Amino acid sequence: MDSGRAGAIGLHALMTPGGSVGGGEDLRRRALASIRTSAPFAYCDACLALRLGSSLAEMAAALAGEAEAVLARTRRACYGCGRTVELSALSEEPPR
Ligand SMILES: [Zn+2]
Repeated sequence: MDSGRAGAIGLHALMTPGGSVGGGEDLRRRALASIRTSAPFAYCDACLALRLGSSLAEMAAALAGEAEAVLARTRRACYGCGRTVELSALSEEPPR
C-alpha cells in the first residue's frame, strides 16, 4: 500500500518486480511508453485513457507528478480525435 504518495520512487518503481503493483505506477509507465511509441504524433489525455483502458481521471493523475519531468503540456492537435487541446507530449530530450 505505498502507491499513494511517493516522493522519490524512481529507482524503487524500476526495481520492484511486480510485488505490490500500484495501478498508478503501472499506468504511468504504460502511458509514457505509449506516448513514446506514438511520437511524433501526440494523443490527448482522453485518447490515451481510451487506448490504455483507464479513466480520464486516472490518466490525468498518471501524467502528473514524476511524468512531468519528461512530458511537456502543450497545445496541439490530438492524433486520435483531432481536437486541438492541451496534451502531454514528450519534451525535447537534450542530446547526451
Ligand atoms: Zn484525443
